[in-house]
Amino acid sequence: MSDPARSIVHLAEWVQALPAAERERFQCIFQIDTTVGELRPPPSMHDWIKEYFGSVDAVERQRIVKVTNLITLEGSLFNELRAGRPMEARAPSDLTQTIMSNTGGPFCRPLEGTPEDVFGRIEGDHCITASNIAKYDGFHGLVIFDEHNPLQFSAKRVKDYIDTALTWAREAHCVDKEARYFFLMWNCLWRSGASIVHGHAQMTLSRGIHYAKVEHLRRAALLYRIAHSVNYFDDLYAVHKSLGLTADYKGVRVLAYLTPIKEKEVVLISKRLDDELKYVIYKVLQCFVGALGVSSFNLALYMPPIDSVPEDWKGFPVLVRVVDRGDPNNRTADFGAMELYGSSVIASDPFRVVDALSSSFGSRS
Ligand SMILES: [Zn+2]
Repeated sequence: MSDPARSIVHLAEWVQALPAAERERFQCIFQIDTTVGELRPPPSMHDWIKEYFGSVDAVERQRIVKVTNLITLEGSLFNELRAGRPMEARAPSDLTQTIMSNTGGPFCRPLEGTPEDVFGRIEGDHCITASNIAKYDGFHGLVIFDEHNPLQFSAKRVKDYIDTALTWAREAHCVDKEARYFFLMWNCLWRSGASIVHGHAQMTLSRGIHYAKVEHLRRAALLYRIAHSVNYFDDLYAVHKSLGLTADYKGVRVLAYLTPIKEKEVVLISKRLDDELKYVIYKVLQCFVGALGVSSFNLALYMPPIDSVPEDWKGFPVLVRVVDRGDPNNRTADFGAMELYGSSVIASDPFRVVDALSSSFGSRS
């Protein structure tokens, strides 16, 4: 059982209890603002409130913790009412049925149903590439898995998908030497933006400048290094480690991120895109889909350009971000105006996420 006080709503107390040097490092990156919201419900609402939130008291005074990453200006709002809910969600039982009823689409027969790139297709052991029909960018490809169900994957397959995407990027770079910025994304099921129900990932190779959010992170990390003479990602990791929010595995740094963009966001940091990282990506996804009951997720991989560029990428690691996008049967979108234009409203507690990762890896950190 986890310590009930080991919770995101008590983050400020946890940070206060850290040794001075660790607390100062935390404060270089994060700011915490804790507040209490109060309300007075009419007696006619009491039964309903007890049913949904356990007690009327819990609703009358709610602690809200606002965490801001001062370096990247990412921000998340945690409410104890939401964070306190159990996380063992179960995937809807009819989901597999819905997924399987969608067989026979273009990705089930990619050679006839999808276009190829100008340099042809890359074939992996368990996948094949295609050219995206309506492109985000000059080079925009797909890795189409030979498994229809996007929630069925293995370590071997995840490695094969990533390797195939990288081979695709090298081929694209041979066609256009100016295209150097590789971006890999995996949208799983329709909540995540995937339009076709069949296992696939997507990749692009861009020119001129990396995508805005990646470039923003590079600049923020560069300014941090100038100001503090240390690598931002090393400090980000150390801050999470101080608080018990890391679950390292096979040398890969795994963080239950303190300012998640949405539910249960996990960040993986590695020096290179090696087999260990590919394996840990698989393990994190397995934990998401298994222990955490996630059925729709986004995964993005950031890495330095695949060929030389004028700007400074020194110390920028390979970074993987994975986020839960909620129940595919829920019609309410998880992103609203707050997430788009304010700070993200989060119901999951990073301390519970790291517990799930640690037990899934069979390790405590
Ligand atoms: Zn299919």
